[in-house]
Amino acid sequence: MAGRTIEQDFVEQFQGSMRRFQRAVEAIPGGITHDVRHLDPFPLYVERAAGSRKWDVDGHELVDYSMGHGALILGHCNAEIADAVSEQVHKGTHFGASHELEVEWAEQVCRLVPSAERVEFTSSGTEATMLAMRLARAFTGRDRIMKFAGHFHGWHDYAVAGERPPFNLRSAPGIPQAVYDTVVVAPVNDLEFVDRRLAEGDVAGVILEPSGASYASIPVPDGFLARLREITIRHATVLIFDEVITGFRWAPGGKQEREGVTPDLTTMAKILAGGLPGGGVAGRADIMQLLAFSDEPGWNQTKKIGHPGTYNANPLSAVAGAVALQMVADPRVQKRADEMAARVRKGFNEVLVRRGVPGFVWGESSVFHLVLGQSCTNQRGEDIHIPEGVAPEVLKGGLGGKAALALAQGMLLNGADLFHGGGLLSSVHTIDDIDRTVQAFDVTIRRMLEEGFFPEA
Ligand code: PMP
Repeated sequence: MAGRTIEQDFVEQFQGSMRRFQRAVEAIPGGITHDVRHLDPFPLYVERAAGSRKWDVDGHELVDYSMGHGALILGHCNAEIADAVSEQVHKGTHFGASHELEVEWAEQVCRLVPSAERVEFTSSGTEATMLAMRLARAFTGRDRIMKFAGHFHGWHDYAVAGERPPFNLRSAPGIPQAVYDTVVVAPVNDLEFVDRRLAEGDVAGVILEPSGASYASIPVPDGFLARLREITIRHATVLIFDEVITGFRWAPGGKQEREGVTPDLTTMAKILAGGLPGGGVAGRADIMQLLAFSDEPGWNQTKKIGHPGTYNANPLSAVAGAVALQMVADPRVQKRADEMAARVRKGFNEVLVRRGVPGFVWGESSVFHLVLGQSCTNQRGEDIHIPEGVAPEVLKGGLGGKAALALAQGMLLNGADLFHGGGLLSSVHTIDDIDRTVQAFDVTIRRMLEEGFFPEA
């Protein structure tokens, strides 16, 4: 093995993925269907999954840390969800009519999520944040939406400003400037800015990931959400928690339950639909009522927000969601996933300290994030601590560059698929999964050291 690089081994051992990618680039732009799957020189092609594991086209068994981009807190192919969906496939996948499953699904949301007096379903998280923003604008009669630097709300025209470093870009390709300019980007965790800007009276709603940007990669300080709630009430601005990731994960009722702060609107997806496509907006009945038909003269023509969508609350997503929500209502699900994530964070930090490699692993609830190559090592080898003075752009940007590639490839070679250099855990990950993954991380870091990725180490 001496002298071989991680990349050479990756190319040799993942030939099946390479061949599929060579076909893909001739049919799909760049060969991939979601940006996060980008991996040079080719991405991973997976054939099947079960529990915490998945198997690629070359037969590698991998512990999965992307878990349906966070949707699969109950693991791949949960038996109850799979049975319910299989049964439903044979009863019909689209009735072009209302059905009882959507009512059941909505009732579960209203039971679990503190802010949910009513819920409306969409086909994705992106659609959910787009609808929530429109509701806020219609309810207040104001045009602008405020979001925070680094926070991710999907890919529609109003969600893109300030999402990726550098956070201060003033335009984005393909988005009309006039649209872009309706979005106000607040600097990271800057509540004085928020208070000052909302006082101008033209902001309809403030949207944020209540965990902080990208599921707590840039966490919010203690008390932040309660203060933001107070500020938005004072300025009569709609507060929107984007709980697409944190919903049903941070607690059965999401981050809002864990923190005891109730927004006006909540956007959801992922766990909401039990691993099938689906999203939703929940919130105050008076705001949500803007989606309802009414006998009031002129209402339906000029006041009601139109809301079509072929696959809204389709029977498959509805049944998967209703079954999943029944299960995630048990807080032992989140507790188990949290414990497994804490074990990853601790294990990875210990590897970095032991190997003398600069970097640190952090996170909360059932997620973890990793930065390598920064001079600030978490010397105590413990869970959660972000060393002083690390720029938000670094926390958000993850690894980047060749080190990110080597890490991803090295982990795959050793049996684990990370998600964007970090991961989201499930309730079916086991201690054995985590210990194998920490071992894989140790081997990968050792090889990266040998290849000279950390000259300062
Ligand atoms: N908001 C947040 C916080 C998300 O994490 C995501 C997806 N990762 C979205 C919105 C968009 O959801 P979708 O991919 O279902 O459109």
